[in-house]
Amino acid sequence: MQLKSILNFVQPHQGFVYGDVRWRNQDKRTVLEIEIRPRKNSKPVCSKCGMPSPGYDTLPVRRFEFVPLWGIAVFFLYAMRRVNCATCGVKVERVPWAAGKNHLTTTYAWFLARWARRLSWKEVGIVFQTSWDNVFRSVKMAVAWGLANRNLDNVTAIGIDEIAWKKGHKYLTLVYQIDVGCKRLLWVGKERTQKTLRQFFKEFGPKRTGRLEFICSDMWQPYLKIVADVAGTALHIIDRFHVMTHFGKAIDKIRATEAKELKAKGQQPVLTGSRWCLLKRPEHLTDKQTVKLKELLAINLKTVRAYILKEDFQHFWRYKSAGWAGKFLDDWCRRTMRSRLVPMKKVAKMLRTHRQLLLNWFRAKEKVALGAVEGFNNKAKVTSRKAYGFRNFEVLKIALYHTLGNLPEPEGTHKFC
Ligand SMILES: [Zn+2]
Repeated sequence: MQLKSILNFVQPHQGFVYGDVRWRNQDKRTVLEIEIRPRKNSKPVCSKCGMPSPGYDTLPVRRFEFVPLWGIAVFFLYAMRRVNCATCGVKVERVPWAAGKNHLTTTYAWFLARWARRLSWKEVGIVFQTSWDNVFRSVKMAVAWGLANRNLDNVTAIGIDEIAWKKGHKYLTLVYQIDVGCKRLLWVGKERTQKTLRQFFKEFGPKRTGRLEFICSDMWQPYLKIVADVAGTALHIIDRFHVMTHFGKAIDKIRATEAKELKAKGQQPVLTGSRWCLLKRPEHLTDKQTVKLKELLAINLKTVRAYILKEDFQHFWRYKSAGWAGKFLDDWCRRTMRSRLVPMKKVAKMLRTHRQLLLNWFRAKEKVALGAVEGFNNKAKVTSRKAYGFRNFEVLKIALYHTLGNLPEPEGTHKFC
């Protein structure tokens, strides 16, 4: 079988035929060059309006990189024609394998973009012997297509989250769809202010906002305010993941202060290396961490008392009815307010303030994929951390949409990967 037959199978182009195939040495490697010619009597198409038009002249041969075959780089060679379009004047023709001035074929760009979901962009560049820029441009193309062609009409539940970036100096607001059957990143915005979230709802549109039944977020005041303002008819929920994050931060604070106090008094550093014992769920601890935790529990430290309060709070999520959960919450807050552990008292105050939103969790937990927010949050953090090139907001945004957006792709005839 000839290479041309394979190409006609995987990548036929209407109005064009494949011509000669030859080897060529280029930058110390051997590449394949495949000529493309217009089919006889086929008319070129104006790139601006898409109308077949009379030919005007022919430009010098251009090279378009195609998907490598057996690890060998492949280039299409084609001399673009210019048309004399009745409407647009003299324009370059439109070709089916590449868009605009792009020197990558569209198929190759989608190929790179798909791999860039499985590997880092740098790795994709190395594996396929192409530049980081080519990979980036391909991902950008895929994201732009996906965003333009996605359908947002089925969104009834969203989760609002934030992640830190630029070494924790800056925040991004992320909005996810968390419907049981469809979970994806919907939107990325700079900062975590009222203005940020207002911008999301503006772009999302009042019609879709009106269809929202559940909105889940952290107890972050700017978010709470905008949700109440813009989407008051949806049930607003504070999710478990965000609540427990506040506990983690409070324990961290108490532990750090206490460790300092103990050290100043010259006492044994029992708290050293204990951070994960206190933050992890007991069932996730390693054997060594379990021993450490037992040691810690044996002494009456502030840190330990805070830990016990946190573990006790986990009962809250096990209730079936919001009524009983509410009674537990009130009782827990009362006990914690007597604890003299200032950071824990702060948590209790916050929970009291948002009591109703917390209890909404019980009305939504069966109907919405509330746990998805935590999973997305982890993946978003990994994406932003993995990316050396992502100090730039636009690039990070594209990377996040690409990995978490579950964006659609055009229906292709042949999938290379
Ligand atoms: Zn035209």
